[in-house]
Order: sequence, then structure tokens, then C-alpha cells
Amino acid sequence: MAKEQKRVYYFGGKKADGQANMKNLLGGKGANLAEMVNIGLPVPAGFTITTEVCAAYYDNKGRYPKELTTQVTEALKEVEKEMGAKFGDKDNPLLVSVRSGARASMPGMMDTVLNVGLNNITREGLIKKTKNPRFVYDSQRRLIQMYSDVVMEKAAGIEPAEGKGVRQQLEKELHNMIVKYGVKSETELSADALKELVEIYKKKVKEVLGKPFPEDAMEQLWGAVAAVFQSWNGKRAISYRRIEGIPDAWGTAVSVQSMVFGNMGDSSATGVAFTRNPATGENYFYGEWLPNAQGEDVVAGIRTPNPINEICKNEHTRHLPSLEKRMPVVYKELHKIQRILETHYRDMLDIEFTIQDKKLYMLQCRVGKRNGPASVRMALDMLKEKLITKEEAVIRVQPNQLDELLHPILDPKAELITKPIAKGLPAGPGGATGQIVFNSADAVEWKKKGKQVILVREETNPEDIEGMRAAEAILTARGGMTSHAALVARGWGKCCIVGAGECEVDALTKTLKIGNFTLKEGDFISLNGTKGNVYQNALPLKKAEPEKNPDFKAFMKLCDEIRVLKIRTNAETPEDAAKARLFGAEGIGLFRTEHMFYGLNAEKPLFLLRKMIVSKTEEERRAALNELFPFVKEDIKGTLKVMDGLPVTFRTLDPPLHEFVPKKPEERAKLARSLAISAEEFNKRAEALHENNPMMGHRGVRLGITYPEITEMQVRAIFEASAELLKENKKPFPEIMIPVTCADTELINQYALIDKVYKEVCDKFRLKSIKHLIGTMIEIPRACITADKIAGVAHFFSFGTNDLTQMTYGFSRDDTATFLPKYIDNKILPEDPFNILDQEGVGFLMKVAVEKGRSVRKDLKIGICGEHGGEPLSVEFCNSLGFSYVSCSPFRVPIASLAAAHATIKEKMNAPKKVVAKK
Ligand code: PEP
Ligand code: MG
Repeated sequence: MAKEQKRVYYFGGKKADGQANMKNLLGGKGANLAEMVNIGLPVPAGFTITTEVCAAYYDNKGRYPKELTTQVTEALKEVEKEMGAKFGDKDNPLLVSVRSGARASMPGMMDTVLNVGLNNITREGLIKKTKNPRFVYDSQRRLIQMYSDVVMEKAAGIEPAEGKGVRQQLEKELHNMIVKYGVKSETELSADALKELVEIYKKKVKEVLGKPFPEDAMEQLWGAVAAVFQSWNGKRAISYRRIEGIPDAWGTAVSVQSMVFGNMGDSSATGVAFTRNPATGENYFYGEWLPNAQGEDVVAGIRTPNPINEICKNEHTRHLPSLEKRMPVVYKELHKIQRILETHYRDMLDIEFTIQDKKLYMLQCRVGKRNGPASVRMALDMLKEKLITKEEAVIRVQPNQLDELLHPILDPKAELITKPIAKGLPAGPGGATGQIVFNSADAVEWKKKGKQVILVREETNPEDIEGMRAAEAILTARGGMTSHAALVARGWGKCCIVGAGECEVDALTKTLKIGNFTLKEGDFISLNGTKGNVYQNALPLKKAEPEKNPDFKAFMKLCDEIRVLKIRTNAETPEDAAKARLFGAEGIGLFRTEHMFYGLNAEKPLFLLRKMIVSKTEEERRAALNELFPFVKEDIKGTLKVMDGLPVTFRTLDPPLHEFVPKKPEERAKLARSLAISAEEFNKRAEALHENNPMMGHRGVRLGITYPEITEMQVRAIFEASAELLKENKKPFPEIMIPVTCADTELINQYALIDKVYKEVCDKFRLKSIKHLIGTMIEIPRACITADKIAGVAHFFSFGTNDLTQMTYGFSRDDTATFLPKYIDNKILPEDPFNILDQEGVGFLMKVAVEKGRSVRKDLKIGICGEHGGEPLSVEFCNSLGFSYVSCSPFRVPIASLAAAHATIKEKMNAPKKVVAKK
């Protein structure tokens, strides 16, 4: 008989069936619990049901594999043996927690149930055992509260109106008890009051959900297990997966673990901590704890937690007691364990612990989420500490995290003269301004309408995930640094303030009351997420200055040492070029000539360009081009000068000319006058330029072929600017790039022109040569297919993947808004191909072009200058095709650089190991 599949993995005492590298099967939580047991840490015994069971559960319409029940029963027996207690026993009952755990951490996105196994019978045994009735009744009311919410409401698919959920209704009952007995918080409620509350809760559950709360321990256990599986397909988990790109098929594991109690009185506690500060990366133990509480209290943001030690206190928490001072012996042990764990995992970890009557238990550890600046700092520190290698340091930082070092902050000058209206915990750095909204759906809606919003919530609620994503920043009145909102925002590098206690948030009336005044939906506020300050109105934002940040610079240096791919920038002004150089750009991959006809100081050159466009004869056109020439030369020269010694790719004029024809009558009249023609004649000429499909019309190289004088003027400007710089002892290196090419013959035509002008300029300046290259953009499928012929002429290729995507899909790049979102929602396309390069289709054409091009010209320089040049996955793809460089906007240069370093590292890791032949 075939051996039955192992569905359940035990851990506890000194033995675990699993280990850290079994995340795919046991989820992060299950694998790490096993690992902690393996390295001898105190972990309450338990077992993990595999992710495969979750997949089977969904495949078989909610039915479990048949062997599961026996395996769970057996594992439970082992747990009972280890813990010396029995699940469901009236004298010596064991209680368990039931928790989710996917391969990738999804903080707060799935459900957990604590105290499972408690009922009116087992509670008596527990009271006898612990001699602590208050704690037992408190645990029971917590079970009812959590179980009815997670298992009986959410997992059953009930969607109550805002404020009408069973959890909120029970919380109201808890609040009523606090009022009734005149105490400050629930921790002061007596055992009798809590016993009374248990009965009130049960009645309420029946009233709200129409079903009694289950008393049978086994029924509770299986209900909780199913609810965790159900929560894998809960709304917030699905949203989180979509945002984070986690596959639906992974499923979650379920870890069932013996309960230990942080709520057994003042010698008990619970906490969440990080082995280093996750917000700044500083190397000290950082965390939060609550005496006499259970784990959920810290993360759910119901009570504002205390700082774990003295070093992590800040101005908001200075007055609160630290665990270090309150329980020095336990703290010392915890401190030692967190060191052991960090050294073992060689990474910053996020840990959960419980202290039951002065005895410490580890409940969880996982690699901790961190924001961009912290990620960079930790990587550099750990490299210095020789904990990790250079490659590991680089791979630890995600390309998009670098964005946060490039983030705006509130203008410090404005902040200095503005009084904060509220203060909270600085959970996510940077500054943000926006209009306030009070729920997730509004945040998404308003964002769609182009508004910048700040999501304001009373407490951190993982169901707000979509709104949190849409918002510029998040503000909550309750919760701590380890609350859901804080974790999620930090993971995204989003500005976030939590636990701003002065804020009274009313989601129903959509008002935010702070002291004497009230803000309503749509009012502007500003947040400083680094300090935790909230301001009224929109304060000015100031750009980040990464070039002055030593961590950023040191980290980029590491990337530069590793990557093979060169990074260039798309820039057309000396200012942008200078900025990109500061970020490490090694050249300009795209200088769009047409930029000078838009924006600052464009009036005069635009007028002359327009004059050229509506010229009828070559003579008229040449006259206008002659007038335009000095402007173009000046512009080119400025950028060549800044990029001294580095290549600058100048693209000849690309857009369809009619884009530049003025619409306003007064401008048309002025142009007509300058050309000495009538208004009718002008309009006739303008009409003649109209095209039905301009993107496929008279643009790019086609302009240079029909009007060679246009190419001539531009090329002359490039060579003369270079010649002048050479005379000034500079080292200009222009690369002339012809756009929208579809055949080698187009290039042959243009090269003859370029060569002629080149010789003329060399003669004029008495120069033997001017270093330059001539190449083409590859942005039409035909160019890819005939790339061998094109490479016979071109010195370099630069992929214009914006147009190449447009023409490969047949999607107009400017008109996708009407259909593409539907494509993505319905999974017809996995993502927007204009954002992330389509490797299968567009990428295939690129591969063909690279192979064909290099088959003819081995040293063919190959780059990319479409928007994908700064998108990490696309950069990795370009690296795999053997590109020479990628080119992107200045602010994406560091991101592309890191992505390129990642690509090199991954390539090395995946390279087949060399087999050394035996002698
Ligand atoms: C491209 O098509 O990818 C490109 C860089 O050119 P443009 O966006 O200017 O058409
Ligand atoms: Mg293009």
C-alpha cells in the first residue's frame, strides 16, 4: 500500500519534524517554529498542517484529505504529552492557538484564533489548575470574541455593515461593562464581571449570528482550522496578494500551538519585537510589550503598547514602563534569544513572545519587514559585522525600496513655523499631504479621480488594505509601531502615523475631531511620518536628497561593484543630466531633441520649428532651420558638457510634425506673417499635415528621409557642438540615433547625409575626427526581424520598448485606459505591458534582434531607452539578453542600478556549477 502523505508536522520539546527551509510546505510560521525548536529555544509544542492541505481543501470544495483527521489526532496526542495537559479535558485542559502562515509573510491579512478548547467545563479545570479565575474568564471572553468574528462571521461569508460586525458589538458590551463597574480599562474588570461578560457575549453571539457559540473543544478546533483556510481567500488576503504578487495557488499552512498565557496577571506579558529597529535600521533591540495581555492586544492596536527597553523609547513613549526595567531577568533572556536568532538567521527578525508567570516562550519569528532606509542601513551594517557577504547585502534591498530614499519630506522650514495638531507614532517615514478620507473604498475612489488622499482610521484594520495602498499616507488614532497598518505601510515605504491618541475618528459621520476643532472628509492635512507629527492644511513638500545620504552612496557603490550592465539616463537638460550623474548614470541613453520645443524657454525655438513645419519649399524650410540651428546647438552643447567623457545618445526628431502646429488663431497669424503668407494659405498647409494615425505616420526617420535638411541641421548641431567642446579640451562623445526605423535602407539613406555633414564639420574646425557612433532605435517589429541587416549599418541598437510594445500588441500607447484595466482585472493580461516588459512577446522579438544583430556585428552596443529601462524585472530581463546598458529617468537610475546588480548576482547563483574532472 502506498505510504500516506504527511500532512501534519509536529514541533515541541526538543524535536521538530520540519525546519526553516520548508517554508513552501509549512508556511513561514510553521517552518520557523520548527527551526526555533531545532536550535533549542523555548517554544510551546504544536503542529503545522501543510499548505498542500489548503490547496486540497480548495480543490475539493472544502473537504480535507482523508488522512488529515488521524494525523491531527496523533499530533495532538504528542502535544498533550509534551505539555502535560489534555485538549478538552475537564480537569487538566490544554488550550491551543490556531494561526495562519503562508510562504511569504502577509501580516494581519489572514486570521488567528486563540484560546481554542475553552468552554464552561474546561474553564473550571483551568481555574483549579491556575487558581486564577479572572484570567480564565478573560481568556474565555476573548475566545468568544475572536471565534465569533473569525469563524462564525468572516469565514461564513457574512458581511455586516460598518460598525455592525459581531466583534464591534461585543466590544460595545465590553465597554458597557467597563462603564458599569466604573473602571478605566478591561484589565481592571474583576473575575465576576468577566464571568458575567462571558454569558452576555454568548447571548449576543446567538442574537447577532443566529447560532449558539460552540462549546465542544474539537468542534472549536476544526472550525478554527477551516476559518484559517477560508481566510486565504478572504478579501484582504486576496488584495494583499495582488499587490505583492503572491500567487493564489500557494495556500496557507495552519499552525496549531499550545497556548501560553500573557494575561495571567502582572508577572505575565506579551510582546512583539525586532532584532533591529525596522524603521531606521539601527542596531538595537526594538519592540513593544504589554503586561497582562494576549498577543493580539499588541498588534491589534486596542491598547497602546509600552517600549520593550530604554533605548527604544522616544518622546511619545518616554513615560511608559519598559520590560527591561519591569522584568529584568526575563528581558535578559529575551535579549539573548534575539541575538541567537539574528546570528542564526543572519537577518533582522520580527519575533513574538509571551511571558507566562515570568517564564518566556517564543511564539514566532520571521524575517522582519523594514522600510527602504532601514533596509539599506541594515545591509551595510551586517556587511561590516561580517554577518553577510557583499552580494547578500545587495540582494537584501529590493529595487523599489530605494524609492523611499528618494522620497519627499515636509519642508522643514514650513514645519518649524507650524504647530502640529496631533502627534502619534512615526511608523512610516517621509512626508505626505492630502485630503482626508475615512474608509478604504473612498480612498480608492478618490485616488481614481486623481486626488491625493490620506486615509484616517480609528485603529489599524487589515481590511483597509486597498485604501492604504491608494492613499499617500495613513493616520490612525490607535495602535503601535508593530500594528498592522505600521507593518504594511513600512513594507511599502509609505508615510504612516499610528496611535495618534488625540484624534477622535468617526468613520460614520466622516469626521476627525482633535481637541476643539473638527476636520471633515476632503480637508487637507500633512503628515511627517518620520517624527509622527500631524499638521492641518497641505504643507509644502521638499524633495529628498539621496546624494547627500552616506548610506545611500555606500550602498550604490556596492551595486556598481557588482553589476555588469551599465546604467544610463533619459535626459535632455544639463540639470537633469547633472542629477543623473550624481545618481551614478554612466551616460545618456536618450536625449529627445523635441523636448526643447516644450516647457521653459521653448517659445522662440518652437516658433522657428513651427515656421519650418509649415514651410512649403525646401528653401523656406532651410531658412527656418538655419534660424533654429543655434538653439539646437546650444542645447546639445550644454548636455554634452555636463556629461563630459560619457556617451550621450541624441535622437533625431521623432514626433509627427503636425503635433507642433498651433491651434490658437493669433499664433497662426504670427507664423503666417513671418512666412509672408495669407491666413488661408497657412490653414491649408496646416490641414495638409493632418494624419489619421500619426503614431504610424510621418514621424521618426521618415521625416529625415522626406526632409533631409532636418536631419542635416540636427547632425550639424551635434558635430559642431562637439567640435567646439573639443576645442575647449572637453571630451564629447555623441551617439546619433535614428528613430522608428523599419529597414536597413532607411539607415543607409540617413548615414550618407550624416557622413557628409561630419566631413564638412571636421573640415570647418580643422579636426581629424570627432568621436561618435551612429545607431538606431529598434521599436518596430520588422526592425527586430531584420536586425541582422540593420546591424550591418548601425553601430548600436537602442530598444524603444514603448513603441515596440505598442506595435507588437497593436495597442495604442495613449489609449489603453479604456480597456487595459479590464484586461488586468480579468487576468487576460498579467499586468500592464507598458509598465512591465512582456518577456514572452515583446521580449521574444528583442531576443531575436539581439541574436541577429550580434551575429553580424559582434561588438554591437545594445541598450534600452523605453520606460521599461527603469523597471526592475525588465532590467533583469535585459541583463539576461546581454545588453550593454539600460537607460531610464534620473530618479530611476539607482533602482535600475540595484536591479542590474541583483541580475548579476542571481545569474551567478543560477549558473551551473563547474564540475571538476577527476584525474
Ligand atoms: C520608445 O518608443 O520606447 C521610446 C523611447 O521612444 P518614445 O517614447 O519617445 O516614442
Ligand atoms: Mg518611440
